Amino acid sequence: MKRWINSLQDNYGTPSIELVSGKGSYVKDAQGKLYLDFLAGIATNVLGHGHPAIVKAVTKQVSTLGHVSNFYAHPNVLQLAEKLQKFTGDKSARVFFCNSGAEANEAALKLSRRTGRTSVVATKESFHGRTMGALSLTGQPSKRNPFKPLLRGISHVTFGDSRAMKRKINKRTAMVIVEPIMGEAGVIVPPANYLQDVRRYCDENGALLVFDCVQTGMGRTGDWFGYEYSGVKPDVITLAKGLGGGLPLGAMIALGPASHLFKAGDHGSTFGGNPIATAAALAVISAIEKEKILIHVNEVSSYLFAELALVPGVTEVRGAGLLIGLTLDQGCAKELVKKSQELGLLINAPSESIIRIAPALNISLRDAKKFVTIFTAALAQVRHG
Ligand SMILES: *Cc1c(COP(=O)(O)O)cnc(C)c1O
Repeated sequence: MKRWINSLQDNYGTPSIELVSGKGSYVKDAQGKLYLDFLAGIATNVLGHGHPAIVKAVTKQVSTLGHVSNFYAHPNVLQLAEKLQKFTGDKSARVFFCNSGAEANEAALKLSRRTGRTSVVATKESFHGRTMGALSLTGQPSKRNPFKPLLRGISHVTFGDSRAMKRKINKRTAMVIVEPIMGEAGVIVPPANYLQDVRRYCDENGALLVFDCVQTGMGRTGDWFGYEYSGVKPDVITLAKGLGGGLPLGAMIALGPASHLFKAGDHGSTFGGNPIATAAALAVISAIEKEKILIHVNEVSSYLFAELALVPGVTEVRGAGLLIGLTLDQGCAKELVKKSQELGLLINAPSESIIRIAPALNISLRDAKKFVTIFTAALAQVRHG
């Protein structure tokens, strides 16, 4: 990929394929080769590629009113905020729109400063984004270390360890941020009661509880928000990835007393809540509701969990809904990604022995079966011995 090397920075490394079109759960590369897309733009294309509802909504919006800034209201931003508020089940919820997950978490971090406190507790190996504030929350040393010094006052405790949380949360804690299921770390589900415990320690100390649902939100786990399995209610929810169905859109939703911490002038984003991105989000939500996609997610999920557990070389299948992590008995995950690509399948390896899949939420059972077939063949080819 000479043109990439000669014109783009090296921060992602160099991709090996160039994609030119997509339809549903399939994408085509510049050579005309077709791939079954089991990563969906990293859990963003919740309705797959080129869904007619998104195409229609975006096309109509761009020809009606493309952008206004937040000096003005427009129908989509109002309707989307009301929808998200409804999903939280809490009329006190207030939404701030931005363009990405990192920005949603930056907004949460700034919001927490308005409590008058500055200490933050986050978890080791978590991922909250790459901007300096979000990176300070992120718990992965490989991403943090080259950019130190980061924000002060942020401590990282082992994910899933309630006692470590209890020790770190105190009356100086402004916020605690947790992914309900860690995504980038390799799809890691915390022990039962973990989120409840963290909620309790936050309540005892008056700290805000932030659930980073950037990856686990918008139906990915079979619920609107990735924490719902726990029954716990956070003070702040951050969203992005799936929210815009492939268009850049993020949100920071604050509930209860936290919903009024920001005063006019405290924060902003020129593109945040843009009419086109919010039109796409409204189309995503209405399709998920109309096509009963949350139920579908749970059906395909059950199928995949059952089938993948039987694949030779897979030692664990974990996650929720259509965010699934597969641990392998050999450190061949990167090779497996390459082999799968050869065989016409896109998947991701967060580490040497973990595969992550996050297909479109409307993936057909037929394509789920096809995935199992290709994945099984690819794994058999790269496993040694
Ligand atoms: C991807 C991700 C982010 C960062 O989102 P960007 O849009 O890349 O800034 C933050 N938190 C979680 C849990 C994520 O998965």
